[in-house]
Amino acid sequence: MDLKSFIRDIPDFPKPGILFRDVTTLLRHPQALRYTLDTLAEKVSELSIDYVVGIESRGFIFGTPLADKLTAGFVPVRKPGKLPAAIYAAEYALEYGTDRLEIHQDAFEPGARVLIVDDLIATGGTAKATAQLVQQAGGELVGFGFIVELAGLGGRQQLPSVPITTLVTY
Ligand code: 5GP
Repeated sequence: MDLKSFIRDIPDFPKPGILFRDVTTLLRHPQALRYTLDTLAEKVSELSIDYVVGIESRGFIFGTPLADKLTAGFVPVRKPGKLPAAIYAAEYALEYGTDRLEIHQDAFEPGARVLIVDDLIATGGTAKATAQLVQQAGGELVGFGFIVELAGLGGRQQLPSVPITTLVTY
């Protein structure tokens, strides 16, 4: 299945000059959604995942059904101030300023095998910060899964050397 044909391009979103790859048009299509989840699950199946970590918020949409397919648990990494129990936080640089992500301190038992999932990797900053959180919380990072990779931005070079699975490359 040609997943690219289900992803919509929105020029100048969220600001002028950015071409946004919109996955809501993939999500609303029953066969494309199932194919996406089945294909990602098959590609990471040999990693023996204990927990899928999804990054707020599109990482939640893909990460939770993926975890279910892998018979793994799901752990959310959230924007500041959303998680109710004790947290670890990681800051990362944006074009202007910084942003912050958080994880529950007790998200994993020590050495649990963790796959980080998001809809898209661009510069890699978000996924890199999430990898630091997984490490802080005592998880063993064993892979990344993204639906879309914007290859020109070099995101995968920012990440720790574990397998990176992507389904669509621009
Ligand atoms: P990065 O930190 O790799 O530069 O940016 C990736 C993060 O920004 C992901 O959480 C992703 O959801 C969001 N993002 C950046 N650009 C796009 C885009 O064109 N389409 C979508 N769907 N998400 C994007």
